[in-house]
Amino acid sequence: MTSLADWRARAKALQVETGLIIDGKAVPALDGATHPVINPATGATIAEAACGSAADIDRAVAAAKAAWEDGRWRHMYPRERMAVMRRWADLVEAQAEELALLETLSMGKPITDALTIDLPEVVVTIRYFGEAIDKIAGLSTISAHDAVHTISREPLGVVGAISPWNYPLLMAAWKVAPALAAGNCVVLKPSELAPLSSIRPAQLFLEAGGPAGVFNVVNGTGIEAGKALALHNDVAKISFTGSTAVGKQLLVYAGQSNMKRVSLETGGKSPQVFMPDLPDLDRAAEYAVRGIFDNAGQVCNAGSRLLVHAAIRDQFIAAFTRKAQELYNPGDPLDPATTLGPLVSSAQQGKVLGWIESGKAEGAAVALGGGADPSRPDGAYVLPTLFTGVTAQMAIGREEIFGPVAAMLTFSSEEEAIRLANDSIYGLAASVWTSDLATAHRMVKAIEAGVVWVNCFGDGDMTQPFGGFKQSGNTRDKSLESLAGYMQSKSSWISLG
Ligand code: NAD
Repeated sequence: MTSLADWRARAKALQVETGLIIDGKAVPALDGATHPVINPATGATIAEAACGSAADIDRAVAAAKAAWEDGRWRHMYPRERMAVMRRWADLVEAQAEELALLETLSMGKPITDALTIDLPEVVVTIRYFGEAIDKIAGLSTISAHDAVHTISREPLGVVGAISPWNYPLLMAAWKVAPALAAGNCVVLKPSELAPLSSIRPAQLFLEAGGPAGVFNVVNGTGIEAGKALALHNDVAKISFTGSTAVGKQLLVYAGQSNMKRVSLETGGKSPQVFMPDLPDLDRAAEYAVRGIFDNAGQVCNAGSRLLVHAAIRDQFIAAFTRKAQELYNPGDPLDPATTLGPLVSSAQQGKVLGWIESGKAEGAAVALGGGADPSRPDGAYVLPTLFTGVTAQMAIGREEIFGPVAAMLTFSSEEEAIRLANDSIYGLAASVWTSDLATAHRMVKAIEAGVVWVNCFGDGDMTQPFGGFKQSGNTRDKSLESLAGYMQSKSSWISLG
């Protein structure tokens, strides 16, 4: 295993591509603008990334539109496109360590997580959608004897993908891979906080034989580059992962421009429900802890609301705090043993600390953590925190905190658990812990969420549609359902008369 010293040496020697990728070339922003990418573990600047403006979005969309119109990608034989996607996945896999290092340096994710979760999932995503290319079929329906009716599936055109910083490359891959597999051309606007890992894969797509102009990347701020992409009249669809507030804004931009499709994966406040008959308290506590402290809680489906039956409250708190102390201690994210890194930025740290203060002011009790890590003043660290005595009215029980902060509420009946679980504007994910099959089925049916786990949390694979009910979004990533979202159906009715 690579040691901390090795990773530090590799970080020091790392050559980073910082340009925009437009029409197959790495280029600076038209106005020469750059912005610093900051390592949140140390506050040091890793690189100055090119920062695209609306004019750069214009030229990237123009390149994608030209590639779309001449059909250099969508008219390629399906098996040829599959071969490109396969080679692309292989190249990303071969560079997984460098890409993982970029994630760790840019957003503070522990290197072991980047290597064992993010990058393998990115490769699986590209392979999964690449393999699906020649398995997409249309329909021929039974029609009158003097007509033939077919329904075929066609790509949309230019797709704009806007991604967040918490799993920078993985969230981008969840959009770009199915969009490309469907035959579209893409302009990706990664998060300005962690753009570096999205640039290299676009170059690897070219090395794999992908035509220039098909996959473009324009880093830039949301309010300039993101907005320009979302308002662009030559963009057929925006595929977004990020906050609910920005997701709503994107729907407005679509209405103000060309009524483009807008698919949204947004925020969450996911409940983990622990019934008194749960099969194994230790295992449940471990999942509960991982569900909220993995990636320092910067996970859209983080299980941030712990709904615990009053009969097991004390045992649960004891098991949860023990597991948290055992599994999550802040450390240098370049250290392979670290499981909890800093938050993405000092601004995000400030927001999370603000929520912690609001929880204290509202009268919730701090059972674990409850502030910044005093031993790491240079980094954006927040201690793993558990609030008990939370009520459904408190802000920490309702708002998405996006940090390592769990809010525990208690309930006394299944009905109350369901009411609490559904008392949220969000509906991304949930879990239920019980030994009773009927209870499990009843609760799966009753809980309003895109994914409901039973006796686990966060498990799954690429076949699982991922996305939310209510204000957690309006679409699904992963799975063939996602691929269908990058296509439209065309019906042809052919008269034989
Ligand atoms: P964010 O909404 O601030 O930013 C997301 C992206 O949108 C960034 O690229 C940003 O530059 C861009 N953006 C910001 N303002 C814009 C505007 N006016 N027009 C166009 N683009 C704009 O979100 P974030 O802070 O990067 O990520 C955290 C959020 O993402 C959390 O709310 C989290 O729940 C959510 N998230 C959801 C999922 C999911 O699958 N549901 C997955 C990961 C993260």
